[in-house]
Amino acid sequence: MSIDTLPPLRQVIDTHGLAAKKSLGQNFLLDLNLTAKIARLSGDNSGHDVLEIGPGPGGLTRGLLAEGARRVVAIEKDARCLAALAEVAEAYPGRLEVMGGDALDINPLDHLTPPIRVAANLPYNVGTELLVRWLTPPQWPPFWDSLTLMFQREVAQRITAEPGSKAYGRLAILAQWRADARIVLNLPPEAFSPPPKVSSAVVHLTALPEPRYPADAKMLQHVTATAFNQRRKMLRASLKGLSPDIEAHLAAADIKPTDRAEQIDLERFCALARSLKAAL
Ligand code: SAM
Repeated sequence: MSIDTLPPLRQVIDTHGLAAKKSLGQNFLLDLNLTAKIARLSGDNSGHDVLEIGPGPGGLTRGLLAEGARRVVAIEKDARCLAALAEVAEAYPGRLEVMGGDALDINPLDHLTPPIRVAANLPYNVGTELLVRWLTPPQWPPFWDSLTLMFQREVAQRITAEPGSKAYGRLAILAQWRADARIVLNLPPEAFSPPPKVSSAVVHLTALPEPRYPADAKMLQHVTATAFNQRRKMLRASLKGLSPDIEAHLAAADIKPTDRAEQIDLERFCALARSLKAAL
């Protein structure tokens, strides 16, 4: 079944010679029912501009447009895809703008009108780098209301992990401090062409208007990076370089000096960051 009058994605790939390039992390979604489903998981976008990173042959882009996104601005690094995307833009007049280039270098904000959501199926390394940037803007709330992002399942689990689990670490703290993060769809390798080696998952993050607990962003990042860098050590040892009074700061945050990083929930990490910041 097709969601628009454009050719099926397999045909688009053949016509435009879009043989997948490993160097660009190209694992395409060819099932337009699935891309429409992912588009719906990002929410009702009829009143939103959507920033899409890495549209490739346009599967998710078509899903977003067919499901009614007000506008889509898409950044694609592979120049081979631009002609295929121009055909999508033609089928949805005035609703798709494609920017050719590297999403890590381009600032698309001048091209977008709030409210803005982000949706992407990206190579995993670029996805994690962009996620960290989107979660650490100079000001909060950020430019986006929500992020709907495909990740390697293991990375999705790190983003949504609870204290005490193996996956819990910096990414969980960063994501959950100022956003609600949940896995909304699991996908097997066969959902992609070519299939990657690992399973994938879509994570949906909604920006909270305020951080869940007060803390200085830089201090919280510094504390969690230091704590999880040596995650098997007791916090008294792994954090001793942060302050000569580290035991007092740990006590102020209700943390035992013998606790390990993965036992500490977000609330107590924020209390620790506040205590250290106040002593500066
Ligand atoms: N969205 C398409 C889909 O779901 O079928 C393609 C997904 S494919 C996993 C990743 C896409 O991101 C490719 O089209 C690739 O060329 C593009 N890409 C890779 N690195 C990029 C970057 N740094 N900036 C923008 N696009 C990038």
